[in-house]
Amino acid sequence: MQAIIDDYCGARRSFFANRKTNPNAKPPKKTRKFHTFTWRATGISYKRGKLRLSMGLDEDPIWIKIDKKFYKKVPAEVSLVYNRTTQQYEFHATYATAPKKSRTIAGSAVAVDMGEIHPIVTFDGLTSEIYNGREQRSKVRYREKSKTNINRKLSRCKRYSSRWKKLKRAKDKTLAALYAQLRDMRHKITSRFVSTCHERKIETIVIGDIKHIRQSIQYGKKANEKLHQWAFSKFRDLITYKAKALGIKVDTQDEAWTSQTCPSCGQRKKPSRRTYRCRQCQWQGHRDVVGASNILTAYQGWFFNPVVGAVVSPVGIRYNPNLCRLDKWSPFSGLKSSKPSKRRQRSTRL
Ligand SMILES: [Zn+2]
Repeated sequence: MQAIIDDYCGARRSFFANRKTNPNAKPPKKTRKFHTFTWRATGISYKRGKLRLSMGLDEDPIWIKIDKKFYKKVPAEVSLVYNRTTQQYEFHATYATAPKKSRTIAGSAVAVDMGEIHPIVTFDGLTSEIYNGREQRSKVRYREKSKTNINRKLSRCKRYSSRWKKLKRAKDKTLAALYAQLRDMRHKITSRFVSTCHERKIETIVIGDIKHIRQSIQYGKKANEKLHQWAFSKFRDLITYKAKALGIKVDTQDEAWTSQTCPSCGQRKKPSRRTYRCRQCQWQGHRDVVGASNILTAYQGWFFNPVVGAVVSPVGIRYNPNLCRLDKWSPFSGLKSSKPSKRRQRSTRL
């Protein structure tokens, strides 16, 4: 009962918080087909290899068999969730894990510039990495294209007719698949980036703050549409929570002018091509690295970047489905895992 009340209050709170920034926000009016049922810590206990989920005084509790590696801890929360893909209910258990205390180099920071062409561009004072966004952009384009295509067909037929329903199902299915693919890409890119920071013992990740962009700048219809599809806040949230789990601090830095200022002498100039060339001091470098470099300089409180002359050409990281973490860290590393023994591995090889 408490979990239901909490959910309701949480939804109310987030709605009114959303209202403040978006006055047109409306509360959801659809009735949910499948409800998520949640047990809080007080209703969960653990006995003889089974989780006991309390169903209240008058009802029998639910018993769930669990894997050996989860024996050590009682979950902080368990919920019964409907999975649309498998069309089954599943139990999700949430475990509290303490943030890892990793040894970092004091004062080390990586600046992150998020843009539309490249989702993440990083600069740590010496090296720069550019995460290529081509794959993601083409997925977004494809999504918008198929959306308009099906919407056109939908508008031609009568609402709730069998043809309409068929098209609607096709639309939902396509969009859900593309949504999952985009989310997967975001996860892989951010995991790779945060794990790189972890491996290099970085203390702080500085994210360029572009909150003001969407409200203040009007680039015209086409560019605005692109900006809105831009998953900036999603990237930021993913980086923030992944970094926190590894004990890396996350800070923001106002991004105003950072992409237009020469990192070497501070002269402002709008870059027109892929390479930034300063008229005053002849400094030149990759346009996207300029932003990240200036964010780092501004964050550290310097007027100009003394080492920027040494910037080597940036390393490009292209998305591929096998992109993985560099540090092999997993949020479950605090829990015991049952790895297959070496002996068994040898026998299978024979
Ligand atoms: Zn210059």
